[in-house]
Amino acid sequence: MGQARYVYAVLSRRARGVSIGINLNPDKICNFDCIYCQVDRTTPPELREVDEEVLLDELASILSSARGGTLFQEPAFASIPPEGRRIADISFAGDGEPTTYPRFREIVASVVALKERLGFGSLKIAVLTNCTVLDRPAVQEALEILDRSSGEIWAKLDAGTEAYYEKVCVPGGARFAKVLYNILETARRRPIVIQSLFLSLDGAGPSRQEIAAYCGRLREILEEGGRIKLVQVYTVARRPAVSSVAPLGDAEVDAIAEEVRRSTSLPAESYYGSSAWRE
Ligand code: SF4
Repeated sequence: MGQARYVYAVLSRRARGVSIGINLNPDKICNFDCIYCQVDRTTPPELREVDEEVLLDELASILSSARGGTLFQEPAFASIPPEGRRIADISFAGDGEPTTYPRFREIVASVVALKERLGFGSLKIAVLTNCTVLDRPAVQEALEILDRSSGEIWAKLDAGTEAYYEKVCVPGGARFAKVLYNILETARRRPIVIQSLFLSLDGAGPSRQEIAAYCGRLREILEEGGRIKLVQVYTVARRPAVSSVAPLGDAEVDAIAEEVRRSTSLPAESYYGSSAWRE
């Protein structure tokens, strides 16, 4: 397969298979500037625009090569045991916030139509989002299209307090209250997944009060009619640009997940970073 511009296949421990990512932000512009972000913004982007025709061709090519088995002969995937040789999901997750792409609704509709045409109708499509613009009508329409075709919203919530949110996510203007409101409204319409990254900053993880406040936010969402199907607690796995950021230890990740389960009764899963961390 030639060098793809917008669509990439990665081995995903979380998805237990190969995940197909779609990057709607090749310009690397994001309305957050998370201190743990993995996107290298020190080098200029190779592309600034999304050519949707090319993107859809790339997606069709990867799906077809998965169906034919050639995808799993590529070096990156050749070690996958036979039972793991499957496409686990498609995810809108790139070098910025996917829902800010101006034609998000249109590209979602095209991706759904393509996967259905190629016989992958039940394949999950996840949208990894920082939730800042989920209140836009066109974005809501996109989510409704996804609701009808195995869509799933993975909503980022990395804090319990505004101060910690500002420190970790460095949002360009989006208030914490708006993010929480958008998560609630989205979760009122369909069950969502909450994705929460906690980290060590200058040698210190989040305080007990921060985690208590974070669990309180989850409870508020539930009490106000939101539905959460899963909370994913994870930490950094690769070194970001900010050098004072490091992963939490596995036990610390587990302790947060346990606190989520204890105080909200929600299912919570841990995803570790330390074993993959490279100094
Ligand atoms: S929202 Fe995602 S892409 Fe944007 S800065 Fe944060 S981690 Fe990076």
